[in-house]
Amino acid sequence: MDVVIPLGAIGDPAEPPEGAAATSAGPRSARERAMGGASLPAGGRPPWLRVRLPGGPEYARVRGLMAALDLHTVCAEARCPNVGECWSHGTATFMILGRVCTRACGFCAVETGRPGGAPDADEPRRVAEAVAHLGLRHVVVTSVARDDLSDGGAAAFASTIEAIRERCPDTAVEVLIPDFRGDGGALREVLAAGPDICNHNVETCRRLTPRVRARARYERTVELLGRARAWGRPELRTKSGFMVGLGETWGECLEIMDDLRGAGVDILTIGQYLRPTPAHLPLRRYYTPQEFAALKAEALVRGFRHCESGPLVRSSYHAHEQAARAERRYGGEAADTRRA
Ligand code: SF4
Repeated sequence: MDVVIPLGAIGDPAEPPEGAAATSAGPRSARERAMGGASLPAGGRPPWLRVRLPGGPEYARVRGLMAALDLHTVCAEARCPNVGECWSHGTATFMILGRVCTRACGFCAVETGRPGGAPDADEPRRVAEAVAHLGLRHVVVTSVARDDLSDGGAAAFASTIEAIRERCPDTAVEVLIPDFRGDGGALREVLAAGPDICNHNVETCRRLTPRVRARARYERTVELLGRARAWGRPELRTKSGFMVGLGETWGECLEIMDDLRGAGVDILTIGQYLRPTPAHLPLRRYYTPQEFAALKAEALVRGFRHCESGPLVRSSYHAHEQAARAERRYGGEAADTRRA
């Protein structure tokens, strides 16, 4: 039976909209009226956001393995709505460098505070062990922001990539990295370890970035992605993603796409923001599946190799398929699909 996972309260329908984005109370553009955009309903989430409760033997196996190896996943820490589906298929996104983040982004459910302590030197080995046990063909490795470390955690990313390469040479490695506060040396260290995909999420539009990611900068994110394109191996794919429903306008969504394509980004993900708890940023609007399809069409027109756009899309959702489709679109063959 499909049920809604209790991820926290949905947005307050009484709150006024920001910008020109359509909401239950705000003005709606011609495009948004044509798309039939969904307002915040009084009775709960719209049907396209219903997901299965986590469970089943494969889910239990992944959870047990993570506990046994003392590893963290962004799936659990960020309360991802896809955890039931992904874990049932043996897919998980590893979160290295602990479970406490030095930033406090307004959309994110990961715990914030002072992580304390040096990186766990054995963690890369254990991640590789888990990848081998799960038989992953494509692994996503991310981290909390570690602004307390001089390199922002770059060395730990590099060690984890190398450990996976050694243990599972046929597995494609995607890293979803923080901005390292703009430190080019840290980015070079990660790229030198040879990931197949370098992912860094822009999360929202330029205007909303100070509120959504207070300690990040929109321009710095775009610069990082451009550097990854310029400094990485030619076969490296770059990737980014953003959420909708935070109050951005349709035009601001298109501006994000233009900026990311200007930085040479190959793969784009677009998903619905879901407020994790009442303490997080309010949800302004649900986008309909038709609107997600229209955003995808805009992305492909702009030249992204692949765009995964949908209500439940998260950065790592169907990550392996995203990479494979990105290559098929151009008839190319990158390291990630060769290994698959
Ligand atoms: S979409 Fe990503 S973060 Fe969410 S459950 Fe799947 S692998 Fe984990």
